[in-house]
Amino acid sequence: MPDPVIVLIEDEPQIRRFLRATLTGQGYRLFEAGTGADGVMEVGSRQPDVVIVDLGLPDMDGLEVIRRIREWTAVPVIVLSARGQERDKVTALDGGADDYLSKPFSAGELLARIRVALRHTAGASHESDEATFKVGELRVDQLHRRVQVGEREIRLTPIEYKLLTTLVHHAGKVVTHQQLLREVWGPAHTEQAHYVRVYMAHLRHKLEGEPARPRYLLTEAGVGYRLTAE
Ligand code: CA
Repeated sequence: MPDPVIVLIEDEPQIRRFLRATLTGQGYRLFEAGTGADGVMEVGSRQPDVVIVDLGLPDMDGLEVIRRIREWTAVPVIVLSARGQERDKVTALDGGADDYLSKPFSAGELLARIRVALRHTAGASHESDEATFKVGELRVDQLHRRVQVGEREIRLTPIEYKLLTTLVHHAGKVVTHQQLLREVWGPAHTEQAHYVRVYMAHLRHKLEGEPARPRYLLTEAGVGYRLTAE
């Protein structure tokens, strides 16, 4: 397989230097753009495996870049956001971005996000048939509808199970409150943010050794939740 191609759309020289060193050092082929317009063109011509977009660009909003890219491609998009852009982050995720990184981030976080994005691309066609999800002690066997932590069999209500399998489907990626409400409860319930909180508390109580310090079901403050994939 050829090395994965990444298009980076970011105007800050320091961040670009950091990403260039990190990504090319890992064997990724990187193409860069400093404006949204150039970025959209790069995505069109390079056919990347992953796109990284900064939300604050000189010529257009990163959200607009995502909107344009999404008109023709489902390529995984990772958003870069500055502190205090929680609102934009959520808008980006609900508008078609797959994940985000808040500045400043480490090389380790960046590479983990890219691995998850590439895994989802590779598995996109048969993702839902993926019979058993495993991470740490947690096993979710979707074929037999069985959930285990170590040797312990966990009994879940239908909603708890659906919430968990929705997170499994997006394993490693952040899932927004809106997304969870839409996928678990349906489009009529996207205002009921408290549902997610309540059922997440139930799930943690059943699956986590220490519900207050979760190992699997992580909170992404102000955005949503992420099921650990590694
Ligand atoms: Ca910027």
